[in-house]
Amino acid sequence: MSQFWNKKVHDLQPYVPGEQPRMATLIKLNTNESPYGPSPRALEAIKASADDRLRLYPDPAALALCTAIAEQEQVPVECVFAGNGSDEVLAHAFQALFRNDAPVLFSDVTYGFYPIYCQMFGLEYRTIPLRDDFTIAVEDYEGPAGGIIIANPNANTGIGLPVSAIESLLKRFTTQTVIIDEAYVDFGGESVVPLTQRYPNLLVTRTFSKSSGLAGLRVGYAIGSPELIEGLIRVKDSFNSYPLSRPAQAGAEASVRDKAWLEQTVGRIIATRDRTVTALRERGLKVLPSVGNFILVHHPDCSADTLFNALRERAIIVRHQGSSPRISDWLRITIGSDEEMDALLKALDEILSL
Ligand SMILES: *Cc1c(COP(=O)(O)O)cnc(C)c1O
Repeated sequence: MSQFWNKKVHDLQPYVPGEQPRMATLIKLNTNESPYGPSPRALEAIKASADDRLRLYPDPAALALCTAIAEQEQVPVECVFAGNGSDEVLAHAFQALFRNDAPVLFSDVTYGFYPIYCQMFGLEYRTIPLRDDFTIAVEDYEGPAGGIIIANPNANTGIGLPVSAIESLLKRFTTQTVIIDEAYVDFGGESVVPLTQRYPNLLVTRTFSKSSGLAGLRVGYAIGSPELIEGLIRVKDSFNSYPLSRPAQAGAEASVRDKAWLEQTVGRIIATRDRTVTALRERGLKVLPSVGNFILVHHPDCSADTLFNALRERAIIVRHQGSSPRISDWLRITIGSDEEMDALLKALDEILSL
């Protein structure tokens, strides 16, 4: 509390990001980063961008990057918007594209930033419960809505939603923006980017932080109709005209153009995920069927809290989101390298046999 704060700041309950430990020897499985890192070509491009041109402001529209994304996704460049991480793109989208004449709808278990953006921008929201098996029931989205946001694959659960389910939603909700947050789509989800060319109210957001191994560069983007993109540009240009540094634009563009690296590293992560899921189920843990680079797990006899602390004592950090009641006894574990997952399994064997 401070007399100097704006009233809105008194009431804010900020998002608590996963810990970024300073101890290098920790096995870090808590914030869904890639164990393999960025494309070597992206690194080269970032280094090459660090020269005398840094005295100049970067391209405010990040046109070269947006063009590369447009070519990759086969959409017109007017349908692409880039920002400082998809968190920033999402914040602009909530502010620019959700109306406050009715509640914004999203799942009761999903990305923790959604309710916070609503609070920040004065939007009412209503959460729609997942089914008992943690899948999203699109038929339960009904009634007045100022907008809808769904993470697909869903955050925390990793469960994917088929394109047909999202299209059925788009057929029913035509007068408000529907955002599909595809932060994890490269790990086996189905993308609805092609639907953006038929549904002018559909915005898809993506990030370079997860599958492209560039969480430290802070680049995300959105794809949608020129109408939606213009709304985002209006908010961006009323907030920060140059959200993406020169190195960020250069690195992200080179990353988009190195599709082989993405396919190779994502393929390895998927193989490691599938092997880890089998191994955990053999040990009696419940694991939701994930198409992301993380898994949500539950042990019938050992609480999430106990497991979390025991893993941490063994220098392995995972994510425990106690704030969401339905998953308070579950742990979210990022899929790391094969060696890291072997260390996780070994630690669990020790913990569970105690
Ligand atoms: C990680 C994540 C983001 C944010 O990604 P950044 O581009 O790093 O800001 C957005 N949505 C979901 C569901 C995420 O898990």
